[in-house]
Amino acid sequence: ETINEPGWNFDNSYARLPDTFFTKCSPTPVFSPKLAILNGPLAASLGLDAHALQSKASVAVFAGNQSPEGALPLAQAYAGHQFGHFNLLGDGRAILLGEQITPLGERVDIQLKGSGKTPYSRRGDGRAALGPMLREYIISEAMHALGIATTRSLAVATTGDSLYRETEQPGAILTRVAASHIRVGTFQYAAKYGTVQDLRALADYTLQRHYPEVEADENRYLQLLQKVIQRQAELIAKWQLVGFIHGVMNTDNMAISGETIDYGPCAFMDAYDPATVFSSIDTQGRYAYGNQPYIGAWNLARLAETLLPLLHDNEEQAIKLAEAAISDFSKLYHHNWFAGMRAKLGIFNEEPEDASLFEGLLRLMKEHQADYTNTFRALTFENQEDIALFGATEFTQWHELWQTRLGRQQESKADSHQLMRSSNPAVIPRNHRVEEALEAAVEDGDYSVMTRLLEVLASPFEHSPEQAEYTALPAQTSRPYQTFCGT
Ligand code: AMP
Ligand code: MG
Ligand code: MG
Repeated sequence: ETINEPGWNFDNSYARLPDTFFTKCSPTPVFSPKLAILNGPLAASLGLDAHALQSKASVAVFAGNQSPEGALPLAQAYAGHQFGHFNLLGDGRAILLGEQITPLGERVDIQLKGSGKTPYSRRGDGRAALGPMLREYIISEAMHALGIATTRSLAVATTGDSLYRETEQPGAILTRVAASHIRVGTFQYAAKYGTVQDLRALADYTLQRHYPEVEADENRYLQLLQKVIQRQAELIAKWQLVGFIHGVMNTDNMAISGETIDYGPCAFMDAYDPATVFSSIDTQGRYAYGNQPYIGAWNLARLAETLLPLLHDNEEQAIKLAEAAISDFSKLYHHNWFAGMRAKLGIFNEEPEDASLFEGLLRLMKEHQADYTNTFRALTFENQEDIALFGATEFTQWHELWQTRLGRQQESKADSHQLMRSSNPAVIPRNHRVEEALEAAVEDGDYSVMTRLLEVLASPFEHSPEQAEYTALPAQTSRPYQTFCGT
């Protein structure tokens, strides 16, 4: 059996950038590699044979013990603002194997996460624990099924080695698939530690890879900035619309491709409250649910700063261009959010009063601690049970306003219902369900709970009876749910 038989088809364009952007280095071999989970449908879409990926040689690839043919392993350099503080970072526990060219001619990064120390590891051990890697697998696949741009998870392999966090944990490596791993922080790195030529090389590379439609005219760097702003406005609006909280929106965790990246302390909100924070380290609520659009704009302003030398020869002019682009974020974000909220409420056309209609509902949801996902699902199916909010007089008034609003559009009630069905998920990765799946896998080596959860999460808009048990809220506990950084 040969190791390229699964269909690896690598190119290594990132390695052709100026070498300040990376350091060639290999994964550190592990003791006893085992495949924990493999994403068959994703493998197929990448032109990989899911059966061959389960061979001993392929599992050795997922564990970092073997290099697939054509790979050119490297760790990427980047910087970033972490909770507002600028740091020099880089892949401290990840290695890019190369770019898989898919049967459709798409180019995606294949990255091992948790594969050992690199020159950027600082004091870290370069490793990852099984629980958090399975968690990234579950949530990123759920996001994909919800129609939200995201990195994907191809496989998780256990290493056979233990690592020590608060307790002893089984080690694991996630094979992550991404449009690229170019971050806002990659541009910050280029601007701070590279030459203008390095910065230009990165910007040109990024344009070619993610925004090939941009013509090579004199304003292409401004267009790059505008494109990233558009994609992030769309992305963050989608997060808000499903109640996703990234948890650690540092600039190094914001991808230039517009994909959700670096699943650490992320979680989905239950009861609607803009102040919701799950991350144990986010004590100030910087990355609270309701702050995400503002942080998005802040991060994009950091990106814009890095591009100033490319935007215009005259710095004042460059700043003006950057500021105009950044001020568009808010408009674009609102445009996307309003479009999505209209769909969630079965509305097809625009009316100026929609803003107050939406605000009215959200205010009531907050006051009554209504579950975000279940409220919209109940509205979709006109299911008045189980949602305490629906018994409130104020809600009845709001409901009348909404029904009147629906009556003013041409589309039928059935059209509205169909729109709502396809805009309001039945299931999200509920925190207690995710924990339950991880516990069975990590403690007992039982992956059946996770597999079943993944199946349900793969069709969030199906609204089938089998999904009902996954829509239930967790039992009331005295301790709020807390997440930890992807350790
Ligand atoms: P994150 O919080 O996952 O976005 O990571 C922030 C930075 O810390 C990145 O440069 C990571 O590569 C690095 N890092 C996180 N965990 C480890 C680890 N166990 N060993 C080495 N570097 C790490
Ligand atoms: Mg180098
Ligand atoms: Mg990160």
